[in-house]
Amino acid sequence: MSTATLDARVDTFTRGAHQLFIGGRWVDAASGETFTTPNPATGEPLASIAAGGPEDIDRAVRAARAAFDDGPWGRMTPSERGRIVWRIGDLILEHAEELAQLESLDNGKPLAVARAADIPLAADLFHYMAGWSTKIEGNTIGLSVPYTPGVDYHAYTLREPVGVVGQIIPWNFPLLMAAWKLGPALATGNCVILKPAEQTPLSALLLAQLIAEAGVPDGVVNVVTGFGEDAGAPLAAHELVDKVAFTGSTEVGKMIVAAAAGNLKKVSLELGGKSPNVVFADADPEASIAGAANAIFFNHGQCCVAGSRLFVEQDRFDEVVEGVSDIAKSIKVGDGFTDDTQMGPLVSDEQLQRVTGFLDSGRADGAEVVTGGARVGDRGYFVEPTVITNTRSDMRIVREEIFGPVVVAEPFRSLDEIARVANDTAYGLGAGVWTRDVSKAHAMAKRLRAGTVWINCYNVFDAALPFGGYKQSGWGREMGHEVLHAYTEVKAVCTQL
Ligand code: ADP
Repeated sequence: MSTATLDARVDTFTRGAHQLFIGGRWVDAASGETFTTPNPATGEPLASIAAGGPEDIDRAVRAARAAFDDGPWGRMTPSERGRIVWRIGDLILEHAEELAQLESLDNGKPLAVARAADIPLAADLFHYMAGWSTKIEGNTIGLSVPYTPGVDYHAYTLREPVGVVGQIIPWNFPLLMAAWKLGPALATGNCVILKPAEQTPLSALLLAQLIAEAGVPDGVVNVVTGFGEDAGAPLAAHELVDKVAFTGSTEVGKMIVAAAAGNLKKVSLELGGKSPNVVFADADPEASIAGAANAIFFNHGQCCVAGSRLFVEQDRFDEVVEGVSDIAKSIKVGDGFTDDTQMGPLVSDEQLQRVTGFLDSGRADGAEVVTGGARVGDRGYFVEPTVITNTRSDMRIVREEIFGPVVVAEPFRSLDEIARVANDTAYGLGAGVWTRDVSKAHAMAKRLRAGTVWINCYNVFDAALPFGGYKQSGWGREMGHEVLHAYTEVKAVCTQL
């Protein structure tokens, strides 16, 4: 089986010293410390990364503050800003192969997936958001003030950037998550400190170079690599930060909220999920089985919106479970650079331990592993695509987010029953519905308490489609025009005429 050739630029970039990007300059961490990220396919060292800490965060925040308060960014016209944001999208496409290779090396995902999904989606996000720069508008509002009879007013609203924004992102779609955060923040005129995940910092560092090349002024985007407690926590707590935007686990999301309380900075959160995927008996057999498998196995189940709870109407339960299991068995697990790989390794040893720990807990609780259920090999962090049945609603594998290629499947009998069971979770990020009955599809869509409902499809993302969670899956929405609210303040201006 053939293997993709490592791009010479990627090789050079990966081996180089990776510093922090602060105020438009590349600098070492104040402590001088570095850490090593492993290649998840082998467990061997991949790159040496600057370990940013509180002092670096402080420097980056002050650079962003100065850029926001006094720099050229705030004086640019919306059109000029929009063209720069557009150029970032263009540069991502120009460097698509390098970025895709970095993503595959750092995260483990198949190179083909990074090429087809992560990179084009990231570029498209910047292109989409660029258009909004010139369309941030307020309203004119007629006033009636009852205690000033006869007085006339001219009142209107302005939508202004929030200011300095801390953005903390996860490792499952490293470049795409950076794009989801940076695109709207820049289009609306904010300044940013981006903290990539410690497992996957490489594509964000290349992106910082492209952002500078696109013409973003110094200090507008700063990238501080490092660990959550050392770099993420001081960013979420910093007094000069106006807003923190976080994507990651619900557990850390709650810490972000607590840290943000010090100066009551604005908070937006995109957190975990345990998303239901509901297959009714009348669903297209082939499409629903393939869709149920894709819902959980895409990106190795490392999607906050993974369809990790599969519900199938009683009559078709055995057939769908068998179909999904057959697909699971056929998935080619391997190194992301190998051509026929369909599923790469999990991102880290910690994730491997976490996912196999869940598999052990499911077995101990009496669930039945229909297929998969074990680590693959003893090198790298590979896990078999796994289908589990005979679960109870109180089992950890049913209630908690596993973030791996593991689906629990249960039968149901009626729409009322499944609407209740599907919503029986602390999360509310995504959901899938498979049926050929239009009324049933929309009735279910209405009853599901989730930020996204996919009907006869799953994992469909678009820069124009808002994404985010109900309940403990988050606050606010990413993408679409909805996200603009998360990066702007509304100012009411009232003039007596
Ligand atoms: P996962 O458990 O999937 O790795 P996390 O929620 O721990 O997801 O991590 C998502 C992001 O949050 C990463 O960039 C990580 O470094 C950061 N992070 C982790 N802990 C904290 C914390 N206490 N404060 C701020 N950021 C954190």
